[in-house]
Amino acid sequence: MTEHQLSADLVHRVCPSCAEKTASPYLEKGALRLVQCGNCSMIYANPVESALASGQFYDRLSVPFYLSRDKLESDYAPVRFERELRWFRSWCRKGAVLDVGCSTGAFLFQLKSRFPGDYTVTGTDVAGAALDHAESRGIEIVRESFLDCDFGGRRFDAVTFWAVIEHLAEPGKFLGKAAAQLKAGGHCFVLVPNMKSLAARLLGVKYRYIMPDHLNYFTAGTLRRFAASAPALEVVRLGQSHFNPVVILKDFRRRADRVADGERARLLKRTTAMKQSPWLGPVRWLYSAVERVLITMGLADNLVLVMRKKQGD
Ligand SMILES: [Zn+2]
Repeated sequence: MTEHQLSADLVHRVCPSCAEKTASPYLEKGALRLVQCGNCSMIYANPVESALASGQFYDRLSVPFYLSRDKLESDYAPVRFERELRWFRSWCRKGAVLDVGCSTGAFLFQLKSRFPGDYTVTGTDVAGAALDHAESRGIEIVRESFLDCDFGGRRFDAVTFWAVIEHLAEPGKFLGKAAAQLKAGGHCFVLVPNMKSLAARLLGVKYRYIMPDHLNYFTAGTLRRFAASAPALEVVRLGQSHFNPVVILKDFRRRADRVADGERARLLKRTTAMKQSPWLGPVRWLYSAVERVLITMGLADNLVLVMRKKQGD
């Protein structure tokens, strides 16, 4: 699927963070309308196509995009989840892990194969074909939608949302459910694109991650307020990660339309290969240095939020 049309079947949303109804227009890109909450400043898409709100869209997308060879190779490359793994390991050294929106299971696969014996892993997603792939890699999967899942008294040491919350029409419900599924002292990890990243500031509407599939657009401030919507969780760290200069260069030269999924997957594969190339040692060093500076300045591509479940909740 290279393009999808907004159908007449639209869902109207309240603020996904504070449930306020008043919002002002923020940005338009094709059929995508972003608004900003009058109460908490959260930026979100409104209205949205019902297939996106329900998650059906991802089931349709899963074969051409998630299972394309380029996307799979990039997802399963050892460097792909390097940063997420570092974050994860510094808070959770062992135990039962649930990855919500696990797609083809690459994060859980890395966790299992790099730290054998430390974790039991479970993944859930709405994209059926992607889950088939995760299962073929030995990942235990749950096919029900996360919100409907009855884990039968099972509790987890960690629940992860890697690049998932931005896709959800009602992200607060997912955070609440994650809190309910965690053991006391367990951790919840959230990674979302940073609306104040260097890329978003330079590219504006041209930025490829301002796209119909993304329903929520966080800054550090609005992400912290969103976290407060789950009273059972306390924020232990709000940081930043990732910088992809190739995306900035590419999007800067392009017209402001949707990047075809095939092209997006090919670029991911290329940048993953670049990160692994032994010939690029000095370039990689410079790249890491720039990434560190951007993180310090609050300009990196993604925000990372780590929350802990309070005792007795
Ligand atoms: Zn709000």
